[in-house]
Parts: sequence; C-alpha cells; structure tokens
Amino acid sequence: MSRVYNFSAGPAVLPEEVLREAQEEMLDYRGCGQSVMEMSHRSKVFDDLINETEADLRELMQVPDNYRILFMQGGASLQFAMIPMNLMKHGVADYIITGQWAKKAWQEAQKYGTANAVASSADRTFSYIPDCSDLPIDERADYVYICENNTIYGTKYKKLPNTKGKLLVSDVSSCFLSEPVNVSDYGILYGGVQKNIGPAGMVISIIREDLITDDVMPFTPTMMKFKTHADANSMYNTPNCYCIYMCGKVFKWIKSLGGLSAMKARNEEKAKILYDFLDESRLFHGTVVKEDRSLMNVPFVTGDKELDAVFVKAAEEAGFVNLKGHRTVGGMRASIYNAMPVEGVQKLVAFMKEFEREHAGLE
Ligand SMILES: *Cc1c(COP(=O)(O)O)cnc(C)c1O
Repeated sequence: MSRVYNFSAGPAVLPEEVLREAQEEMLDYRGCGQSVMEMSHRSKVFDDLINETEADLRELMQVPDNYRILFMQGGASLQFAMIPMNLMKHGVADYIITGQWAKKAWQEAQKYGTANAVASSADRTFSYIPDCSDLPIDERADYVYICENNTIYGTKYKKLPNTKGKLLVSDVSSCFLSEPVNVSDYGILYGGVQKNIGPAGMVISIIREDLITDDVMPFTPTMMKFKTHADANSMYNTPNCYCIYMCGKVFKWIKSLGGLSAMKARNEEKAKILYDFLDESRLFHGTVVKEDRSLMNVPFVTGDKELDAVFVKAAEEAGFVNLKGHRTVGGMRASIYNAMPVEGVQKLVAFMKEFEREHAGLE
C-alpha cells in the first residue's frame, strides 16, 4: 500500500489512524454485527453514537450550554440561504467580503433581504483581511457575516471584527478545530466538515439557543429551519449517519493528541515550515500579506504559469497530490489541515527546494 501526501482543499486528507479504525469496524461496529452504514438511525446504537459525537465536540470546543450543535446536510452552501431565512428578522444583514465563499453567501442573502457589503478585499484579489475595527454597521442589521478562513485565497482573521454589538455569524469550514475558539463570541459558527473534520456531505452548526425559533421567513422550508433540526436532535430525517460516525472518530483523534491547543501548536509548526521556505525561496513565493496568512491553506506561485504547471505535475509524480491552485486563481495551494502530518510538509518543502535548484535559473 502506498499512500500519497494529499494537499487537497476538500474533500481532504483524514487521519490514517481514523481510516484504519473505520476499516476495522466496517463489517461489525462494536459487536452489533453490522456496519454503521447499514444501521437504523433510530437504533439505540446510533443514538449513543450521535450523542457521544456531540459530547466530544462540546468538550473539545468547550461549547457553552446555551449553544446547540446541529448536524445537517446540504453542505456549507445551503447555510448561505438558511442563515438569512432564520436570522433576518429586520431584513438586513452586513457581510464582509474576503473571498469567493463570503461573496457567495452575500449574494445568496440578497434574495432574502438587504445584504450590505460593509468591507471587502476584492481590490487586491482577496490577499488580505480588511480592517474591521470600525465598520459602517447598519443599525438594523440582524447579524454580521464573515468567512473566517478563506480557503481559496489563504487568508484568516487573526482578530474577529468589531460588530458593534451585532450578532457574529462565521463560516469556519476550513479552520474548524484547527485552534481553540471562544464560542461565546459568535451567534453561529458553522462549517462543512469535508475540509478539516470528516468526509463530505455534512455541515456542523453551533448556534446560540435563543436564535433557534419559529420566527423565520414564512416560506422557509421545514428542512431549512434550525428549529426543525434542533427539536429532533439532528434526526428530523435520516442524517448522514456514516459521516457523523467518522467525525466522531476524528474528534476522539484530536482529543488523543491533546485537544485544540495541541492542534494549534502542530498547525503552527507545519505552517511555519512552509512559510519560512516561501519567504526565502528564489523561485516560489506566497500570495498573501504576512499578517493575514492562514494556517490551513497556503497559496503560492512561481510567477510563471507554465512553470507552475510543470511543478504541479512533477509534485504529483513524486506523491504530493492536489497542489493545483483553485481554478479561479491559478498557481499552487497546499492545504495543510489537521490531518496532514508534519512529515508531509517537511517532505513537500524538500521537494520544492530540489525543484528550485533545478529551475530557479530558468525563471
Ligand atoms: C468549501 C467551502 C464552502 C462550501 O462548502 P460545501 O460544503 O461544498 O457547500 C463554503 N465555505 C468555505 C469557507 C469553504 O471552504
């Protein structure tokens, strides 16, 4: 068996230990004679599983008691609509546009009310996080929306915006569980799990309890009401059972490594190896302002599109896969999520150094 180093932005690498455990339990989960994929979501076994999964996440993130954790389908993209439908009581919300995902969420919200773009970094291809200390927050705004880690551009908020007392809603898809967070700073934080937690097909949303009500837009489909899912403990309809199971395993893996502080230290160590090299390289350079760099997604270029393509191909042949940048920006991007081992980043950098020795003169 030969596994590659997978730098995909999502679906993305999972811890090998977790995959092995799932393999062991594939035919018989804890002596019940069936796979989690086959069992009823109404069974006691599954009920215990989902409750344990939620409890582990609660412990990892120290989620306060007045927050609910919902496991829902439709990916992060469905939340772009669910959030305004459930939260826009006054028909107004403020969005900070730091990339494609924030922009998509903002465009979706415009269908349901007035969605203001109160700041944007579009002027410099989203290569930085705008100053959010004194934004023109609308007095009527029901919430302020951010995308906290910008998967495509590789930027991350190092400080949350000053929302002037308004509720903060954050898409944390690509930085979920990468470091400790203070859940109470948010009204909602949510993310698709396929970036940093589990297989594709689910979103986890952590929502302050008082925001889960029947007071939603009148046309809101039953399945798009937070309350529907909260009242049914995320099992109003058949949930993504296997994904919940896999996420649960990843939560236990993170706990075994020491929780989110340990995860942060590990992620900082990995990111430093790559950024330090990019800062000194004669061939490669990062595309993001230093103070806003993401620990998770690291975009870089050689400055020559053809050489970028040569690099991506050579890297793939050497076992470093999915390094091609997002189709809208080009270049390269290394996603170094929680499950990427330090060794994967060290080896990538060694490979980049070798490539540089061979190609730097040809620039
Ligand atoms: C990938 C991603 C999304 C979209 O997720 P889907 O689950 O495919 O809808 C949204 N936001 C961010 C920040 C992402 O990285």
